[in-house]
Amino acid sequence: MRYQNTYAQLDTRLYNEQLPNPLDNPRVGHFNIQVAEQLGWTEDTDLMNRWVEILGGQYVPAEFQPLSMAYAGHQFGQWAGQLGDGRGLLMAQVLDKNNQLQDLHLKGAGLTPYSRMGDGRAVLRSTIREYLCGHALTQLGIASSNALGFVVSDTKVRRERIEAGAALMRVADSHIRLGHIEWIASFAPDLLAEFTDYMIDTYYPECRDSDTPVLAFLQAVVECTARMIADWQLIGFAHGVMNTDNLSITGSTLDFGPFGFMERFNPAWINNHSDHSGRYAYQNQPAIGHWNLNIWLPHFMRLDGVTRETLADCLAPYEATFMQHYQQGLCRKLGLPHQRESLSLAFEWLTLLEDSLLDYTNSFRALLGLIAPDEHHYEQQLLATLTAELNPEAQQVWQAWSIRYLAQVKQVSITQAIEDMQASNPIYVLRNSMAQRVIVAAEQGQFKELNRVFELLASPYTLHDSAIDLDTLPPAPHAPQMPISCSS
Ligand code: AMP
Ligand code: MG
Ligand code: MG
Repeated sequence: MRYQNTYAQLDTRLYNEQLPNPLDNPRVGHFNIQVAEQLGWTEDTDLMNRWVEILGGQYVPAEFQPLSMAYAGHQFGQWAGQLGDGRGLLMAQVLDKNNQLQDLHLKGAGLTPYSRMGDGRAVLRSTIREYLCGHALTQLGIASSNALGFVVSDTKVRRERIEAGAALMRVADSHIRLGHIEWIASFAPDLLAEFTDYMIDTYYPECRDSDTPVLAFLQAVVECTARMIADWQLIGFAHGVMNTDNLSITGSTLDFGPFGFMERFNPAWINNHSDHSGRYAYQNQPAIGHWNLNIWLPHFMRLDGVTRETLADCLAPYEATFMQHYQQGLCRKLGLPHQRESLSLAFEWLTLLEDSLLDYTNSFRALLGLIAPDEHHYEQQLLATLTAELNPEAQQVWQAWSIRYLAQVKQVSITQAIEDMQASNPIYVLRNSMAQRVIVAAEQGQFKELNRVFELLASPYTLHDSAIDLDTLPPAPHAPQMPISCSS
């Protein structure tokens, strides 16, 4: 691998150099060979032969420079002060096959100076959820961290019950969170200029061409955050804990806890069981992204040439960027051109889904069964299921809507519509029930179900022979929600 451990060269107040605390008897959970190849990991026999020991914290290759990072954050809208890597270590940074810098971060590696009341560990259940979700989002084409693999162990970890400790090697284009700047502003303000230069040179070098590189950088962060959240909304993803310490400066999805994928469509849906006020409900995500950036940007006023006014100019495009990306994506999901008539059809469609509590993923995919039934037998079945769920009133709404929709689609190229719809409406997302089945099996030492689900999610837009009905089956319309919380 081509190591480039640049973070370890920054001011030592920003991190603590330390080794992982080994897990007891680490064993194979899963290994993502595609990620390994992209990193150049597969070309090193030592790394390939000893990956379980490395992830188990038992062996640290000489080129690694493990450290835990300091950061701070706003959690659920409140200033939380210093947080930091409480159970993860940045192990190394490498240039991947695309010359893109990637962080290798071992989550579940034991205590650090930032562990506060925690034990520094991650349990198997949450490790599997993170592992599968990073994979799912990546393969859906959404900017996200992913993982090289994970191990399970005999280390006992106490949560509501005793669980098996696990560790996951996360791969992300950056682990710098909005909260890093909040930490610097509070605890080491003299580092702000140097750290900002580091972020620009490392992650946004094109901003150096601007007359005002810092403002160009901030605007770029605003834009990529808006685009990432638009992608979440389109696919029906709810992050669950959009605290400032969980948002990356590269606009890449980071830190999977109580996330979920939308099933029965309800914009007010709260997946995180501990989020009593619904701050991080699905429909609030775009506004929360704005809230986070708005509280983050003023720290840069310490830098020359940055004023309240210029920061306002950086943040102003957030909403338009989000809207543009979201509306364009929504039209694409319907196979329609991005224009006003398409949008009114799209919003009526979403209202229909909401009023009849239809499954978000399946319903969009079902429209292929309407516009091109001959080539889409699976989608025709989805459509039959969908219409069977409609009450007489909703039936009428659907009839009227589908006639107008078909007329609209026929005005454009059907071939193009099919192509767009197949590429933006997945057949498989990581439903909570799917993840749960994988977890139950894995907790009994069975990883076959994990392998199967991993393969489905590897090409989520394609129908798989190995799929079972449960992979695409939404919960009953008024079924109580599976409780998913932060305790992981
Ligand atoms: P999260 O809500 O998972 O993003 O974590 C918020 C903060 O709590 C971060 O600083 C984490 O490193 C820390 N944290 C979460 N779980 C643990 C744990 N088991 N041990 C130590 N620190 C933890
Ligand atoms: Mg230090
Ligand atoms: Mg976090």
